[in-house]
Amino acid sequence: MACGGSCSTSVDEARRKLLIGAAAGIAIAPGLTLFTPAQARPKGAAASPGVRWGMLIDADKCDDGCTACVDACADENGWRGEGAADKQMRPTDPQWIRSVKITDPKSGWTKTLPMMCQHCEDPPCVDVCPTGASMKRADGIVLVDKHTCIGCRYCMMACPYKARSFVHESVSGQRTHAPRGKGTVESCTMCVHRVDADREPACVEACGGSQRGAMVFGDLNDPDSEISQLIARHASKQIRADLGLNPAVRYRGI
Ligand code: SF4
Ligand code: SF4
Repeated sequence: MACGGSCSTSVDEARRKLLIGAAAGIAIAPGLTLFTPAQARPKGAAASPGVRWGMLIDADKCDDGCTACVDACADENGWRGEGAADKQMRPTDPQWIRSVKITDPKSGWTKTLPMMCQHCEDPPCVDVCPTGASMKRADGIVLVDKHTCIGCRYCMMACPYKARSFVHESVSGQRTHAPRGKGTVESCTMCVHRVDADREPACVEACGGSQRGAMVFGDLNDPDSEISQLIARHASKQIRADLGLNPAVRYRGI
């Protein structure tokens, strides 16, 4: 790993946190309680199969040209190098979340929305991984273990959402909570390090901070959570629901 020996202890700690689980938590956006108050995941506790973390994204609140969620993710997880928001992206650069514009060619209707790993309930990336590096936690968060990924890229081919990136070059600006390495594959972790500390993902926090509030994070299994209540009250869609993967990311306004 590009981090080098000096931070091996913290990387091991970050890896340990990725592999152990989450408990239900609390996160506050301006004026909003986003999920049920609970204790932070106790150190060493396993992921709770009673929880399924998910996101609801209201595309009607996404502005064309807004990059708040993308910039926040890049800064939080270090995949664009020290949070350089203005760096020009190349097609081969890793990108954990991207802004996508969809268009109806007949009517000209367009919509911009963020696209990232959809944390599928039945993830084909996990099915095809020969080493077990692609994995799904009991709480539904899909991750890649950098230490066992051999960079074969089978998971990239299997993912219908183009959610995974291959790291072609040595990395800099690594965050200890998000270990990265040349020759491995990576994708959105749903900010698992924050979730395990009772915080919402960086993209959700940034979207709330921008006053758009297009993204809601919470426990899909809890009927009283804000996300479940919104899904119960308003029509929402899973992208490519026809594939039967049951993604944990849902969209309104599309
Ligand atoms: Fe795997 Fe792609 Fe589904 Fe994410 S969106 S869980 S990378 S198949
Ligand atoms: Fe698994 Fe890594 Fe190969 Fe993806 S690239 S299938 S995570 S070993």
